[in-house]
This record gives sequence, structure tokens and C-alpha cells, in this order.
Amino acid sequence: MAPKAKPLSERFWAKVDRRGLDECWEWQGSRTGRGRYGNVKVDSYTNAPSHRVAWELTNGPVPEELCVCHRCDNPPCCNPAHLFLGTHQDNMIDKVAKGRQSRGEEHSPRTRRDRMRERLGYAPLAVPIQRVPRKVS
Ligand SMILES: [Zn+2]
Repeated sequence: MAPKAKPLSERFWAKVDRRGLDECWEWQGSRTGRGRYGNVKVDSYTNAPSHRVAWELTNGPVPEELCVCHRCDNPPCCNPAHLFLGTHQDNMIDKVAKGRQSRGEEHSPRTRRDRMRERLGYAPLAVPIQRVPRKVS
């Protein structure tokens, strides 16, 4: 007999550092391999990014053609007020607008950080890319 698992919503929000409505709520659990998005174990077979789980627990399922984007540009953030649904194209446009991704890189799985790692032989803790003002919406 399997022990009764806690509902996902309970497990999930217990690992989110919930703060004020206009602050970022960062995922405190594990991160994905490339390091920035929170990684949530949904069930024995499924892992999902934390911001997506936050959206779905708050608003319901994400349509297949859409993705959950961050207004705050903070990948581990799970504050539903900072998340919005966009198409993959919106997300790319958003990334480019925020200077996270340079032109021509859209389809490359390699990040700037990966290239730095190759060049330096280690991954820098933080790569100063470019300061952009936070989008106020
Ligand atoms: Zn945020």
C-alpha cells in the first residue's frame, strides 16, 4: 500500500519563498541542469519547471502552444503575479528585448554560460550580460 502523497499544491508552495505581491517568490528546491529554472517533481515520471507549476496551480493548465514567461526575468520566480502566458515567439522576442539572447542564437541550446565554461574551464557564478531596467507593467 502506497503512503498517501501530499497534494502537489501543498508540496509545491512549501518550497516557494512567498513574499509580498510585488516581490519575486523564488523556488527553494532543486534547479534544472542548466541551473536556473526550478525543477519540480510532479509525480514519479514527470518533472516540470517551477514557474509553470505555479501558473497551473493558480490558473489552470497551460495550452500546449503557449509557455509561461516571467515579467521579472527571474527564472526561479514563482510569483503568479510575475508570470504571463505567451507564445514561444513572444518569449523569444521578450528575451531578445531584455538582451538575454543575441540574434541568431534562438535555436542554439548552448548558452553564453556554456561558452564561458568552455573558454575558462569553469562556470562563472554570474555572468554580467547587460543591465536592463525592470519592465514595469
Ligand atoms: Zn518575479
